[in-house]
Amino acid sequence: EIAFYQNRFVDVDEKVIPIQERGHQFGDGIYEVIRVYGGTPFMLKEHLARLEKSAAAIELEMPYTLHELEAIIMEGLKRSGIPEAEVYLQITRGISSRQHHYPDASAVYSMTVREVRAIDEKIRTDGISVILLEDERWLNCYIKSLNLLPNVIAKQKAASGGHGEAIFVRDGIVTEGASSNIFAVKDNVVYTHPATKRILHGITRAKVMELARLQSVAVKEQAFDEVFLKQCDEAFITSTISEVLPIAVVDDVTLPNERPITDGLAAAYRHLFS
Ligand code: PMP
Repeated sequence: EIAFYQNRFVDVDEKVIPIQERGHQFGDGIYEVIRVYGGTPFMLKEHLARLEKSAAAIELEMPYTLHELEAIIMEGLKRSGIPEAEVYLQITRGISSRQHHYPDASAVYSMTVREVRAIDEKIRTDGISVILLEDERWLNCYIKSLNLLPNVIAKQKAASGGHGEAIFVRDGIVTEGASSNIFAVKDNVVYTHPATKRILHGITRAKVMELARLQSVAVKEQAFDEVFLKQCDEAFITSTISEVLPIAVVDDVTLPNERPITDGLAAAYRHLFS
């Protein structure tokens, strides 16, 4: 495991965050999680492009160019020596005496590189159970903000009941998971919430939509409600770490056992890096 703070590599346990760091005091910052397969970061360009978009959305000036960021990430991977890794990186609005409005400070970049949280093959085959929860987040969910309190609470509710994910529902519409996007399949058409401000525009989501089209599977970016989700033929979540993960149970409803479309997409996704 290796870490980086501000301008140098540090030990992951080293105490480096000043108490008046705005990430620490306000959650004033943005982040990304990147999966590394066999030493190579997967869809790095896409993650850095989204980081840049999140930065622009919160009026944060990036401390490094994308080229410099890429070099730091690659150096971190080399130093860690971990081939199957996840890179967590964040940028905050810097260090300054506490005040709400933006300080005259430089943004701070930090990063950890660690062994990926592997998902059990049995879970990948059997699917996860999910619970539906009211989406109580703000209305700018397309920004990958450090403010994850609603996601943390939702994830805890799911985990404490033995569920694999919490799925948010806003005004009856299924938006996304606490740390994933969600898809439902009905009559051979794949549905997912449109890429509005109400969801994170998942990198995995976009790639899976592309793979579906390559397989001539119809995809509709069309919002659906919880009744639709509970009556669908197949459902799955996507994320950088979980990849394409089938949903077996929604609340108290068990979905059908056969998942031809999900299985095809999961296999195609894995084929991209193996
Ligand atoms: N939605 C939310 C709220 C997330 O936290 C994540 C995980 N980053 C996703 C969707 C999936 O995004 P990605 O495929 O880019 O990992």
